[in-house]
Amino acid sequence: MPELPEVEQVRISLLPHIVGKTIEKVRVDLPKMILHPEPEIFARQLQGARFTGVQRRGKYLRLDLEKGCWILIHLRMTGALLALPKTAPEPPFTRMAFFLSGEENLYFTDIRTFGVAALVGEDSWRDKGYEGLGPEPLDPGLTPGYLREKARGKTAVVKAFILDQTILAGLGNIYADEALFAAGIRPTRRVNRMTRKDWEALTLAIRDVIRQGLEHHGTTFRNYQDADGNMGDNSLYLQVYHRKGRPCKRCGALLKQIKVAGRGSVYCPHCQK
Ligand SMILES: [Zn+2]
Repeated sequence: MPELPEVEQVRISLLPHIVGKTIEKVRVDLPKMILHPEPEIFARQLQGARFTGVQRRGKYLRLDLEKGCWILIHLRMTGALLALPKTAPEPPFTRMAFFLSGEENLYFTDIRTFGVAALVGEDSWRDKGYEGLGPEPLDPGLTPGYLREKARGKTAVVKAFILDQTILAGLGNIYADEALFAAGIRPTRRVNRMTRKDWEALTLAIRDVIRQGLEHHGTTFRNYQDADGNMGDNSLYLQVYHRKGRPCKRCGALLKQIKVAGRGSVYCPHCQK
C-alpha cells in the first residue's frame, strides 16, 4: 500500500500533468469507488472543472479544483494515477478516466479495486478519515511529548498505535516496521511500557524513515508507481520490511516475522526490545 512517501511522490509527479488542465469528461468504470456523490453526479459536476493544485495529507491526495472544491483520493492497496498521452492506449486496470484539455488524460488504475475517490466541497459532505487525521511525521507538532500524551491510559501495542492515522498520519506497514527497528523497539511492546527515552527514539526514527523514503521517491515492491509510471528506489534501503528470515543488517541475527495488529511485522529479536 502506498504510504506517505509514495503518495507524496504521486503528488509531485502529478503536478505538471494536471495543474491548469480542464476536465472535459469523466468516465467511471467502477461505480463503487466513488464515495460521494452518486457516480453520475460526480462525473457531471466535474465536467468543465479546472485543476488548480495537488495536495497531500497522510495517505490522501487532494486534487484541487476552482471554486474551493477538490477530488479526494485514497489509493489504498494498488491504486495508481497515471498521466498518458491521448494517443497511447488506456492502461490496464483503468477504473476511472479523466479526459483533460491538452495532450494527456489521467487514469485511475487499480488491480485490487480498494481505491476510492470523492468530490468534496460542493455540499457539506466530508470524509471522516481525512478530517480526523493526526499530525504528519515531519510536522513540528509531532514530538515525543505529543505521542506520550496520546498514549496515556492506553495499553495498545506500539505498532498498532503508530498505524492509527488519527494519532499520526501517513505511516503504513513498511515505514512502521522500519521506524520500530531504527528505534530498537519491538512491534509488540505495549505503549504503557514505553519510557520517555523510547518515545524520543521512536519520534526521531519515524522522521528519519519517512525522510529517507521521500528522498528515494518511495518504496516499490509490487504495484506502486507515480504518475509517470516510475517506481521508487527505497526498497534497496529497507532494514527489516520484507526481510523475514534474513540476517539483521546491524547484528546478523535472523529477522523474525509475527502478526501484530493484523499485519505481518518483521523485527530483529536481538536489536529490538
Ligand atoms: Zn539486529
